Amino acid sequence: MEAGRKPLRIAICGAGVGGAIVAHLLRDEPGVEVTCLEQVTADDHSHAGTGLNVGPNALKILAEADPELVDALKAPGVSLPWRNWRTTLTDGTELMKLPLERVADNEGMRIRWSELYRQLRAPVLDRILFNQQVVSMGYEGSEPGATISIGYQDRATGEERWLEGVDLLIGGDGRYSAVREQFLGRPEPRHLGVVIYRLLVPDTADGLIDDYAQWFNGPNRLLAFRVPGEAIYIAGAFPIPPGAPIADDAKSAEVLRGLYAPAKAAPSRDAAFLIDAICDHVDDIHWARVQEIPPAFADERGRVLLLGDASHAMVPTLGQGATMAVEDACAYADCIRAALRGSGGRPLDVPALTARVAQRRMERVRFVVDFSREASDTMLPGSDAVRDTRAKMEQPFLASLRQVYTGTPALETFGPGAARRRQVG
Ligand SMILES: Cc1cc2nc3c(=O)[nH]c(=O)nc-3n(C[C@H](O)[C@H](O)[C@H](O)COP(=O)(O)OP(=O)(O)OC[C@H]3O[C@@H](n4cnc5c(N)ncnc54)[C@H](O)[C@@H]3O)c2cc1C
Repeated sequence: MEAGRKPLRIAICGAGVGGAIVAHLLRDEPGVEVTCLEQVTADDHSHAGTGLNVGPNALKILAEADPELVDALKAPGVSLPWRNWRTTLTDGTELMKLPLERVADNEGMRIRWSELYRQLRAPVLDRILFNQQVVSMGYEGSEPGATISIGYQDRATGEERWLEGVDLLIGGDGRYSAVREQFLGRPEPRHLGVVIYRLLVPDTADGLIDDYAQWFNGPNRLLAFRVPGEAIYIAGAFPIPPGAPIADDAKSAEVLRGLYAPAKAAPSRDAAFLIDAICDHVDDIHWARVQEIPPAFADERGRVLLLGDASHAMVPTLGQGATMAVEDACAYADCIRAALRGSGGRPLDVPALTARVAQRRMERVRFVVDFSREASDTMLPGSDAVRDTRAKMEQPFLASLRQVYTGTPALETFGPGAARRRQVG
């Protein structure tokens, strides 16, 4: 850092998927002081009971920004590769079989939430203040250069502390972001009209369930894959009126079995395993309604950036929520590093930086949000699972999927491109 220049003080609210990666990628950056506030304790994993599939695009961009982190995520016992997408009816009729290499440059992965958080937080444990909940925040004055103050509370002792003079606040605090509500207003959710429920069951499937697959009975969908630790992740879905609550009687084993049992045939062996597993573990299910919020990136005064779900919580149909939080994190860290390097020792114009981040991400994020919603057509009432799934093996859908999985933003300050640029410079 140039002598006399005050470090850029960055606060990150939330050490989730996106927040932990930004903190990590900026931790050794000269001229930056990063504090990350996380409301849960270091060993608390709120989604510990379930798994997720992370798209090829997340691993592609993360491999450019930090290949060692990708190696840690791909280590044996941490995750399993996601290489195929297969869709059948619950009676066994095959509708779609897509090797991801047809639409992606690299594989994705299947992992437990608890493991994903553990791996992403491990390199920055010393920068994260755990068990500290952000409870208040605001600009310190009305003049254009005013910085931000953040109040946070120790959840063990109740003690309140302040972080003052924050030049840039990154809201990585998830779907119900307090940062977004404070600086941009509470977003209006849009309900798709689909219930999604998740559970993790012991793998007693004897090899029937492995890589990513879906099973349809009308618009009612099962999705499952194996994750490390001898477990199978299951996500079931069925339609409800948009915005309606999930009725208690829809949560019974009997109703759930009825949703997936084919009318004119017995279920296939793999579908039968999943239906039985759901009914046997009905009390362990996590219930949710599929919804999205309009993408937003920065506040008007320009010192607040939103990341991941805080910025663009989307429908989970393509498994792009956490995946895009990874993309955001790499792109944001890259923009910040590029701005610092280009500033020639002068104080950074933070509002110009946040405007650039927003401009750089908007088109890509809108595309992925919209395509995730369009790909949900098979889960809506009146859809034809056979026709609409087979359409997913046609060119328009495959071309868009390739764009999702490969169209990550180019990074200026990371990866081989950056090394080449340094040599040329
Ligand atoms: C049913 C379902 C299935 C899904 N499946 C997938 C999938 O297969 N693949 C995929 O890529 N995505 C999936 N997602 C989406 C994924 O869960 C999110 O998109 C992802 O977790 C967003 O990451 P994030 O970093 O924005 O926020 P999060 O990972 O949610 O992290 C937010 C962090 O902020 C902390 N926090 C919140 N408020 C405060 C506060 N006031 N003070 C301090 N800390 C705070 C939280 O404790 C948390 O650690 C799914 C979502 C749902 C609902």
